Amino acid sequence: MINVKSYAAQSATSPLAPHALSRREPGPYDVLIDIAFCGVCHSDIHQARDEWGGSIFPMVPGHEIVGHVEKVGANVKKFKAGDRVGVGCLVDSCRKCPHCAESLEQYCDNGFSGTYNGMEQDGKTPTYGGYAQKITVDQDFVLRVPDNLDLAGAAPLLCAGITTYSPLRHWGVKKGMKVAIVGLGGLGHMGVKLASAMGAETWVVTTSPGKAADAKRLGAVGAIVSKDGSDMEKHANSFDFILNTVAAPHDVNAYFNLLKVNGTLTMVGAPDKPLEVNVFGLIMRRRRFAGSLIGGIKETQEMLDFCGKHDIVSDVEIIPIQKINEAYERMIKGDVRYRFSIDIKSLAA
Ligand code: NAP
Ligand code: ZN
Ligand code: ZN
Repeated sequence: MINVKSYAAQSATSPLAPHALSRREPGPYDVLIDIAFCGVCHSDIHQARDEWGGSIFPMVPGHEIVGHVEKVGANVKKFKAGDRVGVGCLVDSCRKCPHCAESLEQYCDNGFSGTYNGMEQDGKTPTYGGYAQKITVDQDFVLRVPDNLDLAGAAPLLCAGITTYSPLRHWGVKKGMKVAIVGLGGLGHMGVKLASAMGAETWVVTTSPGKAADAKRLGAVGAIVSKDGSDMEKHANSFDFILNTVAAPHDVNAYFNLLKVNGTLTMVGAPDKPLEVNVFGLIMRRRRFAGSLIGGIKETQEMLDFCGKHDIVSDVEIIPIQKINEAYERMIKGDVRYRFSIDIKSLAA
């Protein structure tokens, strides 16, 4: 066993605090990673506070992991010590079902192993995430981080990046399309960068008028303030695709009205309460309401390479781990531009 320092939540109501963690020694197909940075996803908050139900404690959150390979198992061919690597939301899957065969491991019929708050494929060994000094992961679930990308900014690509990239690709976003990203947070700002790099006319729909200038800097044509009815009316029936990243319960019907005939609104935001749908907003213009979960390993590598080519990283505020509880509170208030990235060196302090 390899003993490392980490931060964990001991229950849904306790703040994160130092926690001693053991990682397995790398087996023949494993990679031991020395973690440099870990992004802070809103899903970390939902799960640490058991907002989705079924949380497993103690919990070491974190699924936006980047660092360097420290050691590899005897049969590892893909990586060597010193390589810049990442781990996202998945650390294993059944590898036998039709979805695993297509590298859609996130839709594994037998249940993927989440990076934390999950179980290894043996069904009994809990997984612990990236708010820790090291992690041991099977080589097939380790990604390469392009050399030109800053590591602190690359960390959020492993969840916020792939979670927005995958639906943008799936729904064929490209030049000539008008696309809206709802919610300018961690996922949202990556959605803006990626959709605009794909050539789409990209807009932000926000509850925060103060973020409008940033929307343009990030690559959007402009921002629509969702609380402003006239702004929303101006853009009615005009969008081909909308990606909704909102983390809290909200009125989704107002956004349907922005879609053209045959337009699609895809949810990636995962509020803890059901959303109320007025079906007429869908029926009248044959609009589609869809969902999307992270992305598979092959597509995650494709996204990282796309970001390498287009020089895209997340806008991060680097924090020491000791500020994590404060960071959660600030995220809930929408007070982060646009992702916290934990400097894992701070765990040694
Ligand atoms: P985040 O950084 O907190 O951003 C969420 C944004 O939503 C906020 O910045 C805010 O943007 C907007 N918002 C918040 N409350 C709102 C409200 N009541 N009404 C309207 N807009 C509101 O969170 P994140 O890390 O991007 O995660 C977003 C959601 O995606 C979370 O629920 C997370 O669990 C989920 N998620 C899903 C997947 C997946 O695979 N589907 C993967 C990762 C995360 P404005 O200030 O611009 O309005
Ligand atoms: Zn996430
Ligand atoms: Zn499977």
